[in-house]
Amino acid sequence: MEMDTHCKVCGLKYEVEPGFFWGAMYVSYALTVGLMIVLGGFILWVSNGQADFWDYVIPIVSALIIGSPITYRHARVLMLHLFSPVRFNPEMAKRK
Ligand SMILES: [Zn+2]
Repeated sequence: MEMDTHCKVCGLKYEVEPGFFWGAMYVSYALTVGLMIVLGGFILWVSNGQADFWDYVIPIVSALIIGSPITYRHARVLMLHLFSPVRFNPEMAKRK
């Protein structure tokens, strides 16, 4: 399922310049690495250090694949919030 290209309320185009969301790949990478570290730490803690290689790989890779649609969208939203000039405008939100 594709993401909306324009805001449903005010019609703002989310892609503020051509290729803007290419940068979301780096945000996605950071989210993915963060998720891997947290999950790896959790497995280490739960197994009390007794887990072998596949005890880490299988749950972590599964979680990344299952979570990829969420990671993809959150990366774009974070990219928009952190690196674009777009800010919430209450006046525009009243239009409907
Ligand atoms: Zn809007």
